[in-house]
Amino acid sequence: MFVDLHTHIDQYDPDELPGILERALNAKVGAIIAAGVTVESTRRCLELADEYDNVFAGVGVHPSDLTGDLDNAALDQLRRMAAEQQVVVMSEVGLDHQDHSPDRAVQERAFRAQLGIAREAGLPVVFHMRFATGDMLRVLGEERVSDLGGAAHYFQGSHEEAAAVIDMGCYISLAKPLLRLPELQDVARKMPLQWIVLETDCYPQPFKGKRAKWTEPKDVPVVAAKLAELKGLDIAEVMETTTANVLAMLGHKAGLVSAVL
Ligand SMILES: [Zn+2]
Repeated sequence: MFVDLHTHIDQYDPDELPGILERALNAKVGAIIAAGVTVESTRRCLELADEYDNVFAGVGVHPSDLTGDLDNAALDQLRRMAAEQQVVVMSEVGLDHQDHSPDRAVQERAFRAQLGIAREAGLPVVFHMRFATGDMLRVLGEERVSDLGGAAHYFQGSHEEAAAVIDMGCYISLAKPLLRLPELQDVARKMPLQWIVLETDCYPQPFKGKRAKWTEPKDVPVVAAKLAELKGLDIAEVMETTTANVLAMLGHKAGLVSAVL
């Protein structure tokens, strides 16, 4: 079975969840991690993880959702949620240096504070880095994230950036951009499969028009098929290795996830 390492399924209408999970299972996507982007959405992810056996939760506040420094009340809530059984990663956390993004110093403080929570809870970190690779690598190194492990989510960077992330002991998480970006296809072709994991980063996409076009966890095998084609491998090998990679990354939480695969 596949694992969808990173999703925002808490953002869909709750009535949609049984269908989304059934389509995922039919596509051999046996475990789905729902990542929070705020304290409130993290709570919803935890509720989903309690309700559905195949759903696990990520705890975090997304850099783009910051309205200022995370206060003690927010950090306490994140810390408490990170200690919950069904939480398997710290996510979505990271750095985003687009023009309209929150202040960089605020982002870095929030990221470091959440890395501290991940360390207390023994969780790997699935991180967002948009136009922020240099700062991300610096913080990952200073915070010794190699102890925790993790993954660069929705990776679209260069070969050198991938190598630097892997040097930090973190995986490269590939999503649907692999289907359409020739540069990324070239990077993926050269990247060792032992360091690749898969995700959809799915959330409701009304701008796509037809509901059937929205990305869902069931689309993980489409990314796997592209990767298999690029590497000249069987899709079954891509499935086996990327799932084994996720379980290796999850450390003491791996048993919880492998039990449903
Ligand atoms: Zn995300």
